[in-house]
Amino acid sequence: EFSHQHSLFLSSYNDSIHQAATRKKGIQKMFLGVIESAKIDVYFQPKIDLKSRNIAGYEALMRWFTDEYDYISPQEIIDTAQELNLLFELDKCVIHKALSIIDANPDLFTATTPVSINISARNFGFKALIDGLIHDVEARGIDPRSIEVEVTEDALLTIGDKVQTNANALRKAGIKICLDDFGTGYSALSYLGKLPLDNLKIDRSFVIESENKSGRLMLEAIVSIAKSYHLTVTAEGIETVQQQDVLSSIGCEYAQGFYYSKALPAEELLAWIDAYSSK
Ligand code: C2E
Ligand code: MG
Ligand code: MG
Ligand code: MG
Repeated sequence: EFSHQHSLFLSSYNDSIHQAATRKKGIQKMFLGVIESAKIDVYFQPKIDLKSRNIAGYEALMRWFTDEYDYISPQEIIDTAQELNLLFELDKCVIHKALSIIDANPDLFTATTPVSINISARNFGFKALIDGLIHDVEARGIDPRSIEVEVTEDALLTIGDKVQTNANALRKAGIKICLDDFGTGYSALSYLGKLPLDNLKIDRSFVIESENKSGRLMLEAIVSIAKSYHLTVTAEGIETVQQQDVLSSIGCEYAQGFYYSKALPAEELLAWIDAYSSK
């Protein structure tokens, strides 16, 4: 009796493990092909200047829609790439794709409306990746001021020579560096004075707390740190007019979030810009 029930339980348990494992294997198998055929897309989320309300640029975000598993999130893509030791190839492929779209749309992506491209923390220390990016920008004749690089604090956990060299190379090439998800990593703040950074991004987890007294104090502290180091500040994950107004009132310069727009394919940006500008 018992062993029968026991095995029933085990078999449905095994089924769900099996399903998860099958999904994982399926995604991995598609993955290599996807990286090679560049099926992963790059979308662009607008960034708004909180003073003028003008469009101040875009963040490039990878997007992967499949027939087999519908939407696969960047986190899922990154986890898979990491497991397969393909994170370098993934970043390379996304950078390449982003630059080809930027190259094809010189009226959309300019020095005053630059695109920031995310680079995995792990890869920021790889000279080949950063040099490849700089080379690709130059070879295509893209204005370097229309490109930024976004890395999280974890990339700076140890500011070894490699990170310093890569950051300097980007600065020398005229490409700005944006520090993503500020305050959520494990780094000390000492890198702020050592690296040539330009912009600091406030993570959505802080923006969510903007209507509490202590949350607001935290945001003010972050903006103040940024100002001391002559960095511009962008708040990400703005979803409401209230959040926008708090961030604006404490001197945050730029904002991104679903309140303005989610990430859109380049082909849809013109229509969005028209609608936004006529508001
Ligand atoms: P991130 O760079 O901090 O990007 C911001 C994330 O917040 C994006 O999620 C964006 O879609 C989402 N977001 C923007 N506004 C709002 C909002 O108002 N509300 C909410 N709830 N979310 C908002 P996404 O695209 O899923 O990307 C997640 C993370 O994956 C990114 O965080 C980044 O770390 C990584 N990632 C995305 N694209 C790339 C890429 O092309 N290369 C690399 N290396 N990493 C990427
Ligand atoms: Mg980012
Ligand atoms: Mg972020
Ligand atoms: Mg974030």
